[in-house]
Amino acid sequence: MVRLYAAILGDAGPLGAPARRRLLGFLLRSIPAAGVVAGAGLVTLRVFEPELQGYPQLLSLATLAVLLVSVVWRRALRAIRGVRAGYREQLELGGLFVVTSAALVQATGAGALEPPLQPVIYLVMAFLVAFLARPVGLAMVLLAMGLEAGPWWQRGAEPSALAVPLTHAGFLALFALLYHGVLAAQLKATRRAERDAVALRLREIGERAQEFRLMAPRGEAGGGPDEGGRRWIDGAVHEVEAAVRGAVEVAAAALHADTCAVFLLSTDDQRLLRRECRASTDTIAAEVPAGEGALGGAVRRASPVRLHGEVKAASYHLDGRRPGALLAVPLLDRRGGHVRGVLVADRFEPLPFTDEDERLLVTQASEILRTIASERLMEDLKQTRDEKERFFQAIERLNRATKLDEVTEVSIEVARAMMDGIDFGAVTLVEADDGPARHRVARTWSAAAGKAPALDGLTFGDEAGSLVVSAVRISASLPVAGRDAGKAAVFDADTRLKGLASIKVIPLRAQPLRAEDPPVLGTLVLGSRRPDAFGADRVRQLEVLALQAAETIQRARLFDATERLATTDGLTGLLNHRTFQGRLDEQLLAAQRYGRKLSVILCDIDHFKTVNDTYGHPVGDQVLRGVARVLSREARTTDIVARYGGEEFAVVMPETDAAGALVIAERIRERIAQLVTETSMGPLKVTMSLGVATFPDHGQEKAKLVEKADGCLYHAKRHGRNQCVAAGASRAST
Ligand code: GH3
Ligand code: MG
Ligand code: MG
Repeated sequence: MVRLYAAILGDAGPLGAPARRRLLGFLLRSIPAAGVVAGAGLVTLRVFEPELQGYPQLLSLATLAVLLVSVVWRRALRAIRGVRAGYREQLELGGLFVVTSAALVQATGAGALEPPLQPVIYLVMAFLVAFLARPVGLAMVLLAMGLEAGPWWQRGAEPSALAVPLTHAGFLALFALLYHGVLAAQLKATRRAERDAVALRLREIGERAQEFRLMAPRGEAGGGPDEGGRRWIDGAVHEVEAAVRGAVEVAAAALHADTCAVFLLSTDDQRLLRRECRASTDTIAAEVPAGEGALGGAVRRASPVRLHGEVKAASYHLDGRRPGALLAVPLLDRRGGHVRGVLVADRFEPLPFTDEDERLLVTQASEILRTIASERLMEDLKQTRDEKERFFQAIERLNRATKLDEVTEVSIEVARAMMDGIDFGAVTLVEADDGPARHRVARTWSAAAGKAPALDGLTFGDEAGSLVVSAVRISASLPVAGRDAGKAAVFDADTRLKGLASIKVIPLRAQPLRAEDPPVLGTLVLGSRRPDAFGADRVRQLEVLALQAAETIQRARLFDATERLATTDGLTGLLNHRTFQGRLDEQLLAAQRYGRKLSVILCDIDHFKTVNDTYGHPVGDQVLRGVARVLSREARTTDIVARYGGEEFAVVMPETDAAGALVIAERIRERIAQLVTETSMGPLKVTMSLGVATFPDHGQEKAKLVEKADGCLYHAKRHGRNQCVAAGASRAST
């Protein structure tokens, strides 16, 4: 039962809601035509003649008038929206005009053969012939003649009375013909004027296309991203777009097209993308599948497609409209011989496109192609410009970097900014302090963070025979040709960079500052999962970057060296007195702020003057260096070790109380006592006295604290040397 109900009244059933809606729509749409037929029947039956008049006649006349007004109203609304009238609408409109005026003439004619309002028919006919399509106009003339002949036949078809309808028919035909003639001549003149305008416009476009050679005027856009060149390029692109728009406008106007649009093939050739469009409706698709409909046909055949009659193939009409005529011309790239897109025009009216129309559209298509080709060149230029800009910005960033750490990081970042598809980057540095050169991986970056082997800090010697070693040795980018990057030894002999399809190792060359400096400071290693990612152009660009990076590295090293010179002591490499004072200030401030302890040890080598006197000054220096090494070794990383004066040293120990400091001081004392310096006069041993003071126990300020430590040191010296003395408590050792 339910199934039966669904089969009949369901959505797919013959009595279902959609079917009912369709039927209702059909009936509503048929009202004007029904009105014409009914009206014609009533006029033929002479229902409107005065002797028969009554309410039914008045009602019929009123109905016809209402129908006519509503159809005229609908037409007016559509005209405002730019929708042209189809044949059906024209027939309805014309038919209602003719029938209503005939009824009116009959109603006011008092049964006479020559009704006083007869000329109304002629006027209506002239009006209709002027505005309706030719076949519709003809149909209206025939309808009017039929409405003359019908009543005559009804009256008994008396031959004596035939003269009147015949005269009327003759007048009708004459009116229609005259109007048509005058109008046709006028139309022709308008068309010619239009064609002239089009020709003029075409010439203009031609001239413009000449300007659109789009070659940068020499010396203007070639040099770099200067403001003038940039503006020139933007302007040119704008012009090209305007030209495409112009071509579409010209085609639309010249062909009286309801739709005229340029569709371009997407890069994958799968879709046609709407680029420019002039249409009387706003339901033109932004993109359509490239193989579909008339557009697809033009693309496939690479030749124009011309269709008329209810064209189903206009799939770019989203509202499913079927134009009366369609012309699609492929945009054929002459050089490449392949199709770039389609220029399409259609008319809703069933007025087929002519050969001349096709020639015009083909001309416009080639116009569009020319501008598009220029635009492509433009894009290239713009891209080069953007790339250059990116490059310069990156280099600038590199130039601003001062620390070695920063330079290696920025170098990789810049390489990534300069080129897409980099999945791995590293900087290695040559460390040639003493002995054979060693390579150190200073920084790595990987797109697959975590997956890449931990390479930071890896060091390897020349014997590794890897790409990095070779690139440094021969000072050239490697590998020369692409090869299986995943299998190549890049750093040391064991590490492989898995998952990379191409790799490039670029030497960081710099002008040596000193004769002993190596010419290659290290390498920039870049990898990509894409095979052949490093074309010759790319490598050249990256080599420029590498030069810049190398110079920045050199500068950073110089910067580091200068800083070291200013803060450290040349003999021992420990912090110098001035830096020690600064650091102690900082640490004391932190200790005060966070309420932490801080200890200071002052040390002085015992009887050092004797060492100098006995062994000579150079041996004294040697002892000083040895003592400095012991101090550095025994101190913790957070401690600050400095050369306080000639043979005096200081250790600052943050977060260390007096007891802790004394333990360390004692250990230092022991190690110094064990230190042996080989001299020409045999092994030499020294001892050291140490004084310890702690913040805040023994002093709130730096001066007080140092003074206390110094006092302890003095105390140690006075009580036999080779011992540690802490403020507050003292402990001697031997
Ligand atoms: P004390 O145990 O009392 O400290 O005796 P001392 O001989 O170490 O006495 P003092 O501290 O007065 O002597 C410091 C000596 O250290 C004087 C100076 O010749 C020597 N000295 C200072 N700076 C250097 C240096 O840079 N190199 C060398 N070789 N000797 C230096
Ligand atoms: Mg001294
Ligand atoms: Mg001394």
